[in-house]
Amino acid sequence: MSTYKYRVLVASHIHEKAIELLRSNGFDVTVREEPSEDELASMIKGFHALIVRSKPLVTKRVIESSDVLKVIARAGVGLDNIDVEAAKARGIEVINAPASSSVSVAELAVGLMIAVARKIAFSDRRMRLGEWPKKQAMGIELNGKTLGIIGAGRIGSTVAKICRLGLGMNILYYDLGRNEQLERELGARYVDLETLLKESDVVSIHVPLTPETQHLINEKRLRLMKKTAILINTSRGQVVDTNALIKALKEGWIAGAGLDVFEEEPLPKDHALLKLDNVVLTPHIGASTVEAQEKAGIEVAEKIIDYFRKHGA
Ligand code: NAD
Repeated sequence: MSTYKYRVLVASHIHEKAIELLRSNGFDVTVREEPSEDELASMIKGFHALIVRSKPLVTKRVIESSDVLKVIARAGVGLDNIDVEAAKARGIEVINAPASSSVSVAELAVGLMIAVARKIAFSDRRMRLGEWPKKQAMGIELNGKTLGIIGAGRIGSTVAKICRLGLGMNILYYDLGRNEQLERELGARYVDLETLLKESDVVSIHVPLTPETQHLINEKRLRLMKKTAILINTSRGQVVDTNALIKALKEGWIAGAGLDVFEEEPLPKDHALLKLDNVVLTPHIGASTVEAQEKAGIEVAEKIIDYFRKHGA
């Protein structure tokens, strides 16, 4: 048992193992899941570290209400709900767990590919209505087809690996830089975005949302894709121009899409995407697995322990 006596506020549901890890390292852990901004601002004093997931919002007001806070940790990827500038201004370290969900997101992307290629969600919907849609559910095999990965980082390269080694797909990728390991191990070919869109049977998007990737997939680029192609987006909704995608799906410029992320979340109840049979939708569940949550919790707990070992309070 260590002699540390720092106080950690856990303001989201994180994996029990992460809490145990902090406690067994001498941290005093208080769990108060998803307080409102007011509640968080009024209770933050006295805590040295704060752990959140995508909620609650850690606003400037919350940060300025703290006194001894040294670390804000997001048990997940991204820092969307944390005012990083306000934290920086007070010398508070902001950390996250960027690699924790890579496998989970990659597996979902592959699941969406198969679901679209084999019309799984469509068949399920129709069978529940008492139909037997065998003819309309004619699909395609992925084996031997070309997969285009846009953004070959942690998730993109895991998708490439699963699809090359598990499904026998040929891999093209587009990124800001080359990924030599992917080329060596999977025979992946580095191409420009236009070539990737023209030659791929499945396009899977794995870039972060930045000013350059906002609407990276727009009408002009969707029109470059094969009529038989499938588009998968598990990155961020804003990377694809939704209106252009709806047109592409309705007018048959592409065959189908699998989407886990949307420009507006939650997706409004009357959204046009909900009326299309050639799209499979999931509610931003890329990281929603037991394993990803456990990895994220443990990764941030370890980083917090490490921080206070090095810096003290
Ligand atoms: P990463 O940083 O490991 O990889 C991103 C890759 O994109 C990098 O190789 C980078 O060079 C490349 N890239 C960046 N800007 C580019 C551009 N303009 N053009 C081409 N390539 C570009 O990130 P990751 O962990 O693999 O995550 C990828 C995406 O997945 C992110 O958008 C992230 O927000 C998203 N994500 C979604 C979920 C979910 O629940 N669906 C969960 C985790 C992550």
